[in-house]
Amino acid sequence: MTFVHVLRSRFSFFWLRADYMKVYIKTFGCQMNEQDSAQMFALLDGQGYERVDEACLADLILFNTCSVREKAAQKIFSELGRVRLLKADNPSVIIGVAGCVAEQEKERLLVRFPFIDLIFGPDHIRHLVNLIEAVKNNRSCKDKQVVQKTGFDLRKDFEFLNVLPAENESPAKAFVTIQKGCDNICSFCIVPFVRGREVSRPHQAIIDEINALVERGVKEVTLLGQNVNSYGLKNPGSVSFAGLLELIAQKTKLKRLRFTTSHPKDVKDDLIDQYVVNPILLPQMHLPVQSGSDRILKLMRRQYTAGDYRSLVENLRRKVPHISFSTDLIVGFPTETDDDYAATLRLMDAVRFDQTFSFVYSPRPYTRAAELEDDVPQEVKALRLKQLLERDTQITRENNQAMLGRIYDVLVEKIDKENEGHPFTGRTPSNRIVHFAGACQAGDIVSVKIVKANPHSLFGEQNAA
Ligand code: SF4
Repeated sequence: MTFVHVLRSRFSFFWLRADYMKVYIKTFGCQMNEQDSAQMFALLDGQGYERVDEACLADLILFNTCSVREKAAQKIFSELGRVRLLKADNPSVIIGVAGCVAEQEKERLLVRFPFIDLIFGPDHIRHLVNLIEAVKNNRSCKDKQVVQKTGFDLRKDFEFLNVLPAENESPAKAFVTIQKGCDNICSFCIVPFVRGREVSRPHQAIIDEINALVERGVKEVTLLGQNVNSYGLKNPGSVSFAGLLELIAQKTKLKRLRFTTSHPKDVKDDLIDQYVVNPILLPQMHLPVQSGSDRILKLMRRQYTAGDYRSLVENLRRKVPHISFSTDLIVGFPTETDDDYAATLRLMDAVRFDQTFSFVYSPRPYTRAAELEDDVPQEVKALRLKQLLERDTQITRENNQAMLGRIYDVLVEKIDKENEGHPFTGRTPSNRIVHFAGACQAGDIVSVKIVKANPHSLFGEQNAA
């Protein structure tokens, strides 16, 4: 190691401060990616980086990517096309690609976008500061190599990162990662191939992080994992997911708790009971169903039938009458017929989800479904999606109307003083966004009466009582 390298490693903090000080991170995809970006920000914040909202102002541009759907992956390619000009204008700007597309596409990305400086997968976020330093060191070399860190960290004791908001921030809510990867091999899903096998985080680390967040003013936490219901199952002696929820209620002063995502096959009675006995668990569940057709569910390798799903929802509603459900749906899966699609609409009518996230099927690399012929014509897929969204809007409108006149405990998330009518925005226990008038502060939990219900938004007034 040269003297300069020693200086750089000893004083990397100052070395980094001296140059790349402004960071722009664009996040694609799910809450898991949002949390990964928060981790990147937290690491860079500790190095004195300032966040900027526009790529053209940054010295370091990171794209945290998603490959769950083809469309999401395409968006990243067009973003990279745009920053090509920035890089041409200012070669010192560092451009990095993180996340699932980085893990999946590596070489192909470099062929198409040779100006990329850094590529790293979801398991390597904790190395970000060192990776940036490697890019800088690399610049002085004649044969400049792209810095790459991909592949899965297969250790059972995988080190999850703590993400705390900066001292001067006091957000009302936060995500806490409890698990990485997934052991289910749903035939349409690329996640196990880009995020690896499931690893559960030790419960004490989760509790410590929540306690630290509560100290910073966080009132509501959403536990994150690809299939939180299977938390701990692979680790002999670990608490179960229901046990984890119970421990959080006992050992922290958190006010509100949610989780996502659940796999219907793994929702067991002890979890359902938590909704009844756990004072901080909110009555809401994101429960992806994907299709209402048993034949399609089998092809998707989901391991439940539409009847199983409906029984589960009915059971939950019997025990937790006001529980709210959201879901994911895929239309146009290979071989999906009109009858299969009609079964999905029937399931929607039966369950009456408060929110659905609907997507047109697109084949993803490595997956089983990609071996099937993608035989549903694009125009049929588009029409089915349109009809499905219309049905969803109708159901949401009716569900919203049913909330009129009711009073909910709302966690205040945002204040927009310029909006004179409804300056406050928060969420009900069922995770519905409500805009309202009142006198409160971000982070307060206040009673709000719903006075107006649009198809996709709710308006209210703070209840004085
Ligand atoms: S449960 Fe299925 S859909 Fe969800 S992340 Fe795992 S493989 Fe993908």
